[in-house]
Amino acid sequence: MQRVTVLGATGSIGVQTLDVLDRHPDQYQVFALAAFTRWQSLAELCLRHRPRYAVMREAAAAANLRSHLHAAGCDTEVLEGDRALEEIAESADTDVVVAAIVGAAGVRPTLAAVRAGKRVLLANKEALVVTGQLFMDAVRQHGAELIPLDSEHNAIFQCLPEAGRSLRGVRRLLLTASGGPFRNHSEEQLATVTVAEALNHPNWDMGPKISVDSATLMNKGLELIEASWLFAMDESLIDVVVHPQSVVHSMVEYDDGSVLAQMGTPDMRTPIACGLAWPQRVASGAPRLDFLSLSQLTFAAPDLQRFPCLRLAREALRAGGAASAVLNAANEVAVQAFIDQQLPFMAIPVCVEDALQHLSAVSCSGLEEIFAVDQRSRDHARAWIRQHGGVNH
Ligand code: NDP
Ligand code: MG
Repeated sequence: MQRVTVLGATGSIGVQTLDVLDRHPDQYQVFALAAFTRWQSLAELCLRHRPRYAVMREAAAAANLRSHLHAAGCDTEVLEGDRALEEIAESADTDVVVAAIVGAAGVRPTLAAVRAGKRVLLANKEALVVTGQLFMDAVRQHGAELIPLDSEHNAIFQCLPEAGRSLRGVRRLLLTASGGPFRNHSEEQLATVTVAEALNHPNWDMGPKISVDSATLMNKGLELIEASWLFAMDESLIDVVVHPQSVVHSMVEYDDGSVLAQMGTPDMRTPIACGLAWPQRVASGAPRLDFLSLSQLTFAAPDLQRFPCLRLAREALRAGGAASAVLNAANEVAVQAFIDQQLPFMAIPVCVEDALQHLSAVSCSGLEEIFAVDQRSRDHARAWIRQHGGVNH
């Protein structure tokens, strides 16, 4: 019986993880569930899955959850605050930690799971983008088993020799990208897109932040950085290919010309089930891929002119040092401002580029230095938005 902790349980990945776990009650037991403020959603999940612990990051939300569960006769213990998130991630009573918090907010609890040598199923790509070398060093040092849930990286993990432990004969990685909802928009059309349009992804049902990132292609940029760290591949050996059908989830090209692809319907329960059961396989609930009903699989180069975020991410990865942390933090602030209708869509890359120009030369190595850079980039982006934003649409 594997005991599973889900960080970010109320989100898109969290809920889909619980759906997979629910299909295999003989193999998995929910140890702890964590969320930020949405205590009603976490209450429902606790009543259904009866974890030993539930953690709300916010104290007021924790108090509400505690009294609600008490009244319902549920004996899940409710904890609160940052430290509690780390405690459930590193507890000796959990085997698997699903890192599904959104943004750099997930860095500390994800690292706590890594440092406790857990099997860590990583959805929270920002945690790796921000901490990079430090994260991968901790994985090696503490013997954690890191399995990517991001569909592209899970695909590459499955296509690499020895599940990524070797790069023998590998020539390059091909990350596929759906292209997002604005793949065919002109620059003029991109200038006026609305929040609702950006949140409406054609193939995937995801949380708001990653949906906007998919629309700007920053998601693919973050994934490029993620892939470079996960698989120890130089940025020049990772190509991005636009594949609107989201059937080929990514590919590995070998020296002899072989290209291995992992395919499936676009359903995150497939990589989640893969990560939970690896090297075994369990049913995920995802619909099966029906090749006879696929009309076509197409591939094209990304347009960096219309989608500058992908260029910025590649430049940040190439620059090294603090650049990826700066990129991520400014992007988190800019995306939230766009969602709050304080910033037009096409100002997101402009805001991020300004932060990169001002801050990427800052040195950073340890975790506290990384957090300091993250904070400076957020402050910089907020100041930039106060000056240039304020556009309602
Ligand atoms: P959602 O917005 O749907 O969920 C985010 C989860 O994180 C919620 O449980 C939320 O709690 C919690 N959370 C948010 N902020 C904090 C915080 N400051 N402290 C603690 N918990 C917090 O996001 P997704 O599930 O879509 O994405 C999660 C991660 O997985 C992201 O990094 C994303 O890039 C990655 N990912 C997602 C995919 C998808 O298909 N959704 C695909 C590939 C990667 P609350 O509900 O209380 O706010
Ligand atoms: Mg992805």
